[in-house]
Amino acid sequence: MKQYINRRIMIIASAAILMTAVFCTLASYRVFREEIKDNLRICTRLLSDKEDIRNERVLSKYASELYNDSIRLTLISEDGDVIFDNVARIERLDNHLNREEIEKAIENGEGYSVRRSATINRTNYYYAVRLEDGSILRTARETHSIINIFWNAVPMFLIVILILLVVCYFSSRALTSHLLAPVEALASDMDHPETIHTYAELEPIIEHIRNQHNDILAHANLRQEFTANVSHELKTPLTAISGYAELIENGLAGEEDTRKFAEEIHKNANRLLILINDILRLSEFDVLTESDFETEETDLYEIAGTCVDMLAFKAREHDVSILLEGEKTLVTANKDMMEEVIYNLCDNAIRYNKPGGYVHIYAGDHTIKVSDNGIGIPPEYQKRVFERFFRVDKSRSKRTGGTGLGLAIVKHIVTLHGAEMTLESTPEQGTEITIRFPDK
Ligand code: ADP
Repeated sequence: MKQYINRRIMIIASAAILMTAVFCTLASYRVFREEIKDNLRICTRLLSDKEDIRNERVLSKYASELYNDSIRLTLISEDGDVIFDNVARIERLDNHLNREEIEKAIENGEGYSVRRSATINRTNYYYAVRLEDGSILRTARETHSIINIFWNAVPMFLIVILILLVVCYFSSRALTSHLLAPVEALASDMDHPETIHTYAELEPIIEHIRNQHNDILAHANLRQEFTANVSHELKTPLTAISGYAELIENGLAGEEDTRKFAEEIHKNANRLLILINDILRLSEFDVLTESDFETEETDLYEIAGTCVDMLAFKAREHDVSILLEGEKTLVTANKDMMEEVIYNLCDNAIRYNKPGGYVHIYAGDHTIKVSDNGIGIPPEYQKRVFERFFRVDKSRSKRTGGTGLGLAIVKHIVTLHGAEMTLESTPEQGTEITIRFPDK
């Protein structure tokens, strides 16, 4: 890329220099031509105004002066014959009547013409003035052609081009290095984007990469933490199962104990199953996007009713009353996922409640709200309860069959549906979780 930019700049600079050279030559050549024309005109007019210009001696005197200035002076008779010339021998000159400047001078009093001689690359300028007696006085000057002038200037142009190219080369190198330095620095050290010196135009991109990088790091950390948590969570029930099984295997347990141990094994195996199920659900949601699951018009009230039915027994067990209020409210959602969300919230509201407490569910207006008058959540943990494996009271969670993943699953589903979730809670007074779907 650097080389490409450098090459481009050099090509553009060379083209610009060359074009400038050509235009300068053309422009100065025009001025130069006008100058010659003006000089010849003034000179011819001055001479023609002299009364005794027809006098051979006077004419010779001026002619030799002009000759020194490389100006040719010619006197032509009315019928076109050359009477005097300070350069050529008049016998060799043919009739001049058909020369352009002479024709014009006869007709208008004055005439100007330019003729190029192709063979020797020269240009001749002529200015003619008709005298009172009808004869014509003409001055002429020969110059190099424009090509010659240009060629003469070529060495100078080449030197200038060379100098400019060197300047361009170094400045374009410096410029591209400066432009690309942050990009190169970023490519060579992605881990420390904050140390890169950048400039205003690149800042948003670097900032974006920085954020992405931080996100990736955070994500990787979360994953690592999650894996460690999973291993730990799986280990506990497995260790218990293994221990009880070993006791039975060694014949150390009596008949009564064996029954109790088997019960423990069963309980822990169930725990493992629930845990694995939750972990699988979460990793499933990790790769899901909004378009990856089916949605339909779903009545939140109806689903809440199903959940209440499923949890009625558990609520009675915990001495908690459960009440559903509201009306039919349709949202675009995945039915199974919605059931999982509402079930989880109601299940938590029962498990983290007090004997004699209540769970109120409201469904309506694209909203589902689950409130309880249970133990509540301390303010400092209210954000963290949605994290995987976070539990305010671990033993209570485990005792009541929790995995610490319920609210993480809920949050995932809510986000996937583009809904909004809020949590309000006061310790010892209760908790209220509200999920609002976007209005259609
Ligand atoms: P768990 O399986 O432990 O219930 P959750 O992810 O469902 O995991 O909830 C995380 C933690 O949030 C729980 O351990 C509990 O401490 C707290 N929590 C959730 N719901 C409530 C609630 N309704 N009242 C009080 N605390 C709650």
